[in-house]
Amino acid sequence: MQLPFNATVTVDLSEQEFYCKRLYSGLLQAQALANIGHWELDLINKTLYWSDEVYRIFGLVPQEFYATYEAFLRYVHPDDTDMVNDVYTTSLKEKHGYFVEHRIIRQNGEIGFVEERCEHEFDASGKPIRSIGTVHDITGRKNAENELILASAVFEKMSDGVLITDPNQKIITVNSAFSKISGYAFKEVKGKTPNTFSSGWHDNAFYQKLWSDINKKGQWNGEVIDRRKNGELYTAELNIIALHNKNGILTNYISIVNDISEKKEKESLIHNLAYFDSLTNLPNRVLFQERVISKIPALKRDSKKMALLFIDMDNFKNINDTFGHLTGDRFLIEVAKSIKSLLREQDTFARLGGDEFTVILDDVKSIVDIASVADKIIDRFKNPVMIEDREFFTGASIGISIYPDDAQSYEELMRAADTAMYHVKESGKNSYQFYTQSMNEKITERMLIENDLRNAINKNELFLEYQPKVNLETKSVYGMEALIRWNHSKIGLIRPDRFIGISEETGQILQIGLWVAKQAISDTKMFHDEGNKLTVSINVSSKQLDDVSFVDDICNIVDDIGLDKSYIELEITESHIMKNVDKALIILNLLYAKGFKLSIDDFGTGYSSLSYLKKLPAKTIKIDRSFVLDIDKNEDDRSIVSAIIAMARSLGKDVIAEGSETKEHVDTLKFLSCNQIQGYYFSKPLKIDKFREFVYGFKWD
Ligand code: C2E
Ligand code: CA
Ligand code: CA
Repeated sequence: MQLPFNATVTVDLSEQEFYCKRLYSGLLQAQALANIGHWELDLINKTLYWSDEVYRIFGLVPQEFYATYEAFLRYVHPDDTDMVNDVYTTSLKEKHGYFVEHRIIRQNGEIGFVEERCEHEFDASGKPIRSIGTVHDITGRKNAENELILASAVFEKMSDGVLITDPNQKIITVNSAFSKISGYAFKEVKGKTPNTFSSGWHDNAFYQKLWSDINKKGQWNGEVIDRRKNGELYTAELNIIALHNKNGILTNYISIVNDISEKKEKESLIHNLAYFDSLTNLPNRVLFQERVISKIPALKRDSKKMALLFIDMDNFKNINDTFGHLTGDRFLIEVAKSIKSLLREQDTFARLGGDEFTVILDDVKSIVDIASVADKIIDRFKNPVMIEDREFFTGASIGISIYPDDAQSYEELMRAADTAMYHVKESGKNSYQFYTQSMNEKITERMLIENDLRNAINKNELFLEYQPKVNLETKSVYGMEALIRWNHSKIGLIRPDRFIGISEETGQILQIGLWVAKQAISDTKMFHDEGNKLTVSINVSSKQLDDVSFVDDICNIVDDIGLDKSYIELEITESHIMKNVDKALIILNLLYAKGFKLSIDDFGTGYSSLSYLKKLPAKTIKIDRSFVLDIDKNEDDRSIVSAIIAMARSLGKDVIAEGSETKEHVDTLKFLSCNQIQGYYFSKPLKIDKFREFVYGFKWD
């Protein structure tokens, strides 16, 4: 039951006493339930009546409190007293009721909120005789309202962005900080999911982990990269909380977003200042050192090598002194740009300071690779550095150290590279040197070979030797292997092991290979013309097989000379074939179809499988000399050779053993029924004339 607020409550106890009493007590009960009390102020006798509920609202005990209007005013909150008094007196004067909301101070000091309604009674002359009113304790509602106002003010004023979704992740609300961060107004994202802000930066696994954390632990926090409405990415510290009601049912997700992109930028600025050279933007000494140190464990684990190049520019001091620091700076910027353009993305290139630069070449396979980088840098500075149409001549002095060969720690590697660089400076600048002398020698020799090989054919420095192949059954020389030699004008005789590999790398092998074929086939033709139908073996490198014109070129040579192709055996190493079997099969089949014989060289070292062996159109298998070396002493080697022979036979192939140096080798091979033999036991490779003598004088029993 509710008290009709606007009604004037008049209770006449003298009439209908009984009913009224009951009605009255019912009314009081109802009022108490609704936290409403009532009062009457007798304006004639100046007495104030308060119902029990009014006393309760004010926290007073009726027996201890003498209620008067003034006493009442004392319990009104001091800030509201004037207002309450004004409202009352004005309404009395103007003869109308009123409604007022104000604070009270309860007896125990607590602040409460009440709503008061009041009406007045006047006599016939219009003189006020009685005021009656109600007091409604609205403290609970007010506090809740205030809390809400507070919460929503906090929500709105927070500098962190807040986004609230329903359990289906549909956005219910966002605060203005969130709108500011994301660039989306609330109405633009209402009902959408937070996917709207995803930048595509994180993968699925990232979000899976995020949601699994929220589902398991009820919350997740971490850094995310999201996208603003204008497309810009930003880094945010994100805290997502799953909210459940009293019954444990998920009601909302709350995301608190803190835009930390500025902080990140500052951090990266600080990072840049600490780790990068401000002039060239290259890593500085500190970062370089960190990178070197961090690479070492992986290199160690994988047994890989790394080269450290220490570059010092020649002439820099001169440029700086003559043209000033500004020009010096621009010179260094140009130098840095030039060197960087010669390196791979993964190479670390740093400026240590002044005109000193360093490079790390990771995972280097050969010193040639390192030398070629150093060469490129030196070559670059054969041309001047241009600054505003002015030419500046410089040069690079480069010292190179290698991990782990020269040193195992950063400091030692630097010292070694620095020492090597110093040697370059001492010996005329504008060059490079390895820290280790043997490497310098190796690379010097290599450079010399590479350079001089270019003219070796023209200068008639190449020649062939032939090593006879003997058939133990027919007791005759049935063929020979052509082996190349280089008679260098300054160095003297150079064996193929020292230059074939280089010629393969430089591509010179193509020209050399054809020269060998021409020479060997002509020489063989001579024997044939004499009535001696020898078979010639020619070594063919994989580089030659990769060359599209190889088959045509060699066919042309043979046809020009006019030798039957079945007397030409092309030796290809097993490892070359196995590198790319399918590709090799195509070209070998082609050569086979043309009529050439094919032989698998160095057999046993290339791990070929039986299934491939079956497919190869090779007529002969040449057992590698490493198995022959100890064949008379080593049971294992003997078993391997025996197995190779059995397998070859079952595939219908011939077997020849190379490297047979002793009578014991030959006897063992014969015992294993390998009857084709090549090796020092019969003869070393011989120049053509000696070979001819050997062939015609050969006797064996
Ligand atoms: P290879 O094809 O295995 O040639 C056999 C090598 O074994 C030759 O070395 C030969 O002199 C050596 N040899 C022969 N009998 C014996 C012996 O009883 N004991 C020992 N220890 N060695 C013996 P060489 O002439 O130094 O050739 C080395 C390698 O150079 C050859 O190995 C071949 O792979 C390559 N090569 C030689 N000439 C040519 C060529 O014209 N073209 C190509 N692509 N490679 C060639
Ligand atoms: Ca060979
Ligand atoms: Ca061989």
